Amino acid sequence: MSWLIITEKDNTARRIASILFKDVKTLKKGRISYYHSPSKDAYVVGLKGHIVELDFPKEFNNWAKTPLEKLLDVELVKKVKERGITSVLKSLAKDAEKVTVATDYDREGELIGVEALEIVKSVNPKVKIDRVRYSAVTEQEIKAAFSKPTKVDFNLANAALARQKIDLIWGATLTRLVSVHSGRMGREFLSVGRVQTPTLRLIVDRETEIQKFKPEKYYEIFADFEGFTAKHPKRYSSRDEAEKVFSKIGEVAEVIAFSRKEVAEAKPAPFNTTEFLREASRFMSPHRAMAVAETLYMNGYISYPRTDNTVYPKSLNLIGITKALASQFPREAEIVLSQDRISPSRGRRETKDHPPIYPTGVATREELSKDEWRIYELVVRRFLATLAPKALWDVRKAELESNGVKFVANGRTLLDPGWRAIYVYSRAEETEIPILKKGELLRIVKKRLEEKETKPPARYSPASLIKMMEKLNLGTKSTRHEIIQKLMSRKYIHGNPFRPSETAFSVINVLKEGAETITLPDMTAKLEEEMDMIAEGKKDEKEVVQESKDMLRQILTTIDYKKLGRDLREGIRKDKIVGKCPECGGELLVRKSRAGKRFVGCSNYPDCTFTLPLPQNGSLYITAKECKEHGIREIKIRTKKGYWNLGCPYCNYLNWKKESG
Ligand SMILES: [Zn+2]
Ligand SMILES: [Zn+2]
Repeated sequence: MSWLIITEKDNTARRIASILFKDVKTLKKGRISYYHSPSKDAYVVGLKGHIVELDFPKEFNNWAKTPLEKLLDVELVKKVKERGITSVLKSLAKDAEKVTVATDYDREGELIGVEALEIVKSVNPKVKIDRVRYSAVTEQEIKAAFSKPTKVDFNLANAALARQKIDLIWGATLTRLVSVHSGRMGREFLSVGRVQTPTLRLIVDRETEIQKFKPEKYYEIFADFEGFTAKHPKRYSSRDEAEKVFSKIGEVAEVIAFSRKEVAEAKPAPFNTTEFLREASRFMSPHRAMAVAETLYMNGYISYPRTDNTVYPKSLNLIGITKALASQFPREAEIVLSQDRISPSRGRRETKDHPPIYPTGVATREELSKDEWRIYELVVRRFLATLAPKALWDVRKAELESNGVKFVANGRTLLDPGWRAIYVYSRAEETEIPILKKGELLRIVKKRLEEKETKPPARYSPASLIKMMEKLNLGTKSTRHEIIQKLMSRKYIHGNPFRPSETAFSVINVLKEGAETITLPDMTAKLEEEMDMIAEGKKDEKEVVQESKDMLRQILTTIDYKKLGRDLREGIRKDKIVGKCPECGGELLVRKSRAGKRFVGCSNYPDCTFTLPLPQNGSLYITAKECKEHGIREIKIRTKKGYWNLGCPYCNYLNWKKESG
């Protein structure tokens, strides 16, 4: 009788097999590899994440013909997604005495393990089951985990199952609702989702704020001295008032106060997923950063990248890890190790499941890809920075006065960079001011009155959006980057920072009227709470799913379907407008010929036959930027290789004509 070990991915299966056994043989069934130790008669099989998926029964697949309320009554079915793996599992399970679930340690991992167990039990109902939990695929952690196996936590798996069911039901019902009524079906359907829609609303609301924003003028007064600048502390909304103060300023100013002190700047906290993704978004999309982090984790270079914890557990050998890293980061490790005592920084949240993200192995630049190295280096530098000394600043503050007009000047210079010498991603902004004495008189080199304008709030960047989602409890550490990716691929948002499309405005506006709940973070935050309760065994999964269905049913009965369809179609149409027709003043739109080729055409066709050519490959984005000469909006094309700028399609056409004679 054999022992069967199940991991979440093939990579981890291979590594775990080589850590646990000395005589590992790689076996193959079809295209699936798995690992065998003849001496222990043990098999290790890696899944591909979820090997089954929930879906509606086939007869509900037709979007146009299925009444939406029907989707709320049907029993969901489980479908096998990975046939090859399922068949390996079944053949090995038949002769197994014991199965050890070694999938990732979180809700999703628990559910993935339970799904595999159901398949195992279907051929071997009496098999013994245990579970091992680990946070890094390193020899030490894996051996420790296998030396004290525990039980499968079905409550934890059920929490993930409830989320899966609710997301499927809400997503399918509402996506069909807007897609069917706007006529946008097939490849370009309009998606709606429990988390993506409130996230999209954040971006749409911000854009609305920016559109409504009226800049206001204000005035500020500055005085330049030898080597530094001081500012009058008040800002004025009236020019007259500002000028009155400005005219009083004399030739010299007296120092009325000067202070100088050393200020320590705390080092950053250990990485949780959100903070990691925020920092990584300096050089790649959060989506890509997460994928790279997962590869590094599976190969034993960093700990599990899905974690909320920002406090290192006591058991972590911080000095040992630092010493190991010294071979690749000698200067940085030295800064940490030269301290008499190392006291790691700690964040606000402490959980017991996983440690913060930290390096679990030493990598060289050569053995990793470029992106992998960038992410690995970020994790290493962050880790070392959390152990490093504080940064020390010389902070100076001066108050000056000239004929009763006050000025202040602040200076900050770095005395000792401490952790900043390691964590090179955030630059130290320094401003110098000289050491001054109270009563000293200084000549004013120049006085300035500057007119400024209030600015609208900034659009969301990937980093600020992830932070806002976390604050509102939208999504989880594991899903936030995926949600953003989805909004981009559905063309609801584009650019960086993000701008919404007209279709996004319409979808959010119609949902706000008929089904506002879907656009607010409250419901999803409530679901996260309920999932915690399921995980803790305080609430039943079925009950939570039922409540959620009832809420959705309520929404479906109150919607004005006609208005919804009209408004959505209008938004979709607006997204195709490129500008005004230079020949008849009609609207220039992106259209498709009968042969399926896209081009820019006039809304007054056939009376007006003005057209412009467009490239046929890649997805097309109409940007907010207008050509100064033609008033036509510039176009960007996204292909697999990235974005390229077509610019104004009219200019583009004219240039082409000139060049080709
Ligand atoms: Zn025209
Ligand atoms: Zn132009």
